Amino acid sequence: MTDILAVADHRRGELRDVSYELLTAGRLLADETGGDLHVAVISGTVEDFASKLDREGVDVVHTVDYGEEFNHGVYAQAITQLYDRLAPRYVLTPNSVNGLDYAPAVATTLDVPIVTDVVGLETDGETLTATREMYGGKVETTTELEGPAVVTIRGAEWPAAEGTGDAAIEPADVTIDEDALGSTVNGFEEVAGGDVDISDADVLVSVGRGIEEEENLDLVFDLAEALDATVSASRPIVDNGWLPKNRQVGQSGKVVTPDVYIAIGISGAVQHVAGMKGSDTIVAINTDPNAPIMDIADYAIVDDLFDVVPALTAEFS
Ligand code: FAD
Repeated sequence: MTDILAVADHRRGELRDVSYELLTAGRLLADETGGDLHVAVISGTVEDFASKLDREGVDVVHTVDYGEEFNHGVYAQAITQLYDRLAPRYVLTPNSVNGLDYAPAVATTLDVPIVTDVVGLETDGETLTATREMYGGKVETTTELEGPAVVTIRGAEWPAAEGTGDAAIEPADVTIDEDALGSTVNGFEEVAGGDVDISDADVLVSVGRGIEEEENLDLVFDLAEALDATVSASRPIVDNGWLPKNRQVGQSGKVVTPDVYIAIGISGAVQHVAGMKGSDTIVAINTDPNAPIMDIADYAIVDDLFDVVPALTAEFS
């Protein structure tokens, strides 16, 4: 039992970034256990996904050609059957909505422990040491597990696996028992206000409490339009009901990893930073040079957003 089984995540026809990050975490663990890295992908369009997952360090991609939409029962059945066949030491899943749906069921069925929302992993081949954050990132804890386990990993904590591998791509020998699925997926319906997926954006213009009034949000949307960017927000903006929850970045919002993250009137509380610290380039616009966001900003504009934002919009329009 030295192999690692990672389970890819996808949504509406796209593999999510965390799927490639899982491969990096999985490869590092496989190097420590001396095993192989297996990846499972479950979808109605597995060929395309399988070739994308064939990145450096992947030994085998197992495809389960079943269903377009996520179904808890399909994942739970497929992964437990793959586990029985491959006997991996660890099963890695994303700590996503989907991952958190099926991973506990898999752990329960297999009667192995589960550790969730992991930000660091090490093993000596026997003991797994998983690092987790508490109190919004102020405290780190480690959990030690003996024997096989299911681990859900947080997005943006490992770099995405790169390159092209030479993995074997194999249809998985699993049988889905439709009578035991427990639920049927009839289709996918976008909820109102769910038009934007901030976790897919290349450029995010993110607004915080410094904007003061709801009507001032127009300034931020104008800049986003000029930059062809997407608007996201800190929690107070969402709590005020000025923007929908799907635009919130942070510990209780979404984890984002855009190329550019422009934080406008955002202080950089740990709970916010937990959701955006993986951004490639961080620009902070804030009147306070000592705001915590300045510690992680690549570019800091210490000035009044009500002057800076319209000036940037004019420059890029
Ligand atoms: P503030 O902290 O009030 O910062 C406003 C900033 O704007 C200040 O730095 C100020 O200097 C600057 N400013 C003011 N006026 C101007 C101006 N005219 N021009 C330029 N700059 C200006 N927060 C999140 O964002 N996401 C989460 O997911 C999240 N989850 C949480 C979970 C828990 C369990 C808890 C306890 C808290 C959570 N929070 C979250 C809240 C978090 O602790 C902070 O309260 C929040 O991030 C602060 O938002 P802010 O930076 O917009 O506001």
